[in-house]
Amino acid sequence: MNFDVDSIRNDFPILKQTTKSGKPLVYFDNAATAQKPQCVIDAIVKFYSEDNANIHRGVYELSDRTTTAYENARQVLKNFVKASDEYEAVFTSGATEALNIVAQCWGADNLKAGDEILLSEMEHHANIVPWQFIAKQTGAVVRAIKITPSGELDIDDFSTKLSEKTKIVSVAHASNVLGTINDIESIAKQAKSVGAKVSIDAAQSSPHMLEDLSSELYDFVSLSSHKCFAPTGSGVLYAKREILNSMRPWKFGGDMIENVAWAGTSFRSAPERFEAGTPNIESNIVFAQACKYLMSLDIEAVEKHEQELLALLSSQLSEIEGLRIFGTSKNKVSVVSFAVDGVHPNDISVMLNNYGIATRTGHHCAEPLMNTLGVSGTCRASLAFYNTIEEVEFFVKSLKRILNILR
Ligand code: PMP
Repeated sequence: MNFDVDSIRNDFPILKQTTKSGKPLVYFDNAATAQKPQCVIDAIVKFYSEDNANIHRGVYELSDRTTTAYENARQVLKNFVKASDEYEAVFTSGATEALNIVAQCWGADNLKAGDEILLSEMEHHANIVPWQFIAKQTGAVVRAIKITPSGELDIDDFSTKLSEKTKIVSVAHASNVLGTINDIESIAKQAKSVGAKVSIDAAQSSPHMLEDLSSELYDFVSLSSHKCFAPTGSGVLYAKREILNSMRPWKFGGDMIENVAWAGTSFRSAPERFEAGTPNIESNIVFAQACKYLMSLDIEAVEKHEQELLALLSSQLSEIEGLRIFGTSKNKVSVVSFAVDGVHPNDISVMLNNYGIATRTGHHCAEPLMNTLGVSGTCRASLAFYNTIEEVEFFVKSLKRILNILR
């Protein structure tokens, strides 16, 4: 299969628009949320035009059809990460909710005073704050693996901090700021050597379809729909069925119960155990449609294209005087954060908008990382496979013009 970026772009109607600046939209904010292909948009319309009903328990044709589509979607999502039969896919509202379930439902019964939760300095708030909260409740301690100057995990620091006290290691597969792809397999192997559980935040790696996440070394893997070219409001927590069934539920109501009586209630096994109430049926079903779309692409060609864009962007940016790139690891997804001496990153993003270019500025929900980097925020260009070489060149040209005005 070949990778033809023009035909890929045809799949994404939003990319065809002209912005108020009169310039075509250059969408470089994919790490915040990715655009949706026509097949995903069609699947949303089809759902509400043909299939909408509440799932489970309905005895009529429409509900039956929706229930089947919903459970099929779960299977597609398992195939997407090549999860083995031992694993279950729990639908959540996003990666944040998935990580909260791990921290709360696993942490509450498995952490005690003196235990350690090992994160890293490059984590998103979604993989920090839930752990701080459960640490406060249980008396466990949160520790963070340091990063090296190039924005990689400091493996020596990891080895030093990892001990018998470590009960869980929870790290990002790919950083939403630095772009660094962490060697999660080797991290997981080391974590297992001290008997710690392993949780992987795959929110930023799954859109780039890195290697599969099927290793049995990972106890928990969290994914986000909207980063994966699907609608917002959905996510998945993959975990071994056995672990999930040993965890307490976290929200209570319909669908997650086995029997309810005034004397007490019993709960269903995973995945329903963690899916109380009416879920986001449409988004979960359409998430699977997006994954099917991704799986239909030539993954190697996609990766090659993204890496070409990343290499061009990084080399052209590094030629700009006073510009500093945060995250220069060899192993990166196509995310480039930078700052320019004497220029506020927000001014850069605001002025890029005048050229039709969408980027993001700020702490990117990674304030502790900003402290480590010694900045209050960065400007971030995050690319997807539908971006082009021409867009990268236009971005750099526009940035140079802006910097001539601002400096
Ligand atoms: N982890 C990382 C690394 C992220 O980039 C994000 C989203 N910015 C999240 C978790 C949270 O994902 P969601 O928006 O699905 O809650």
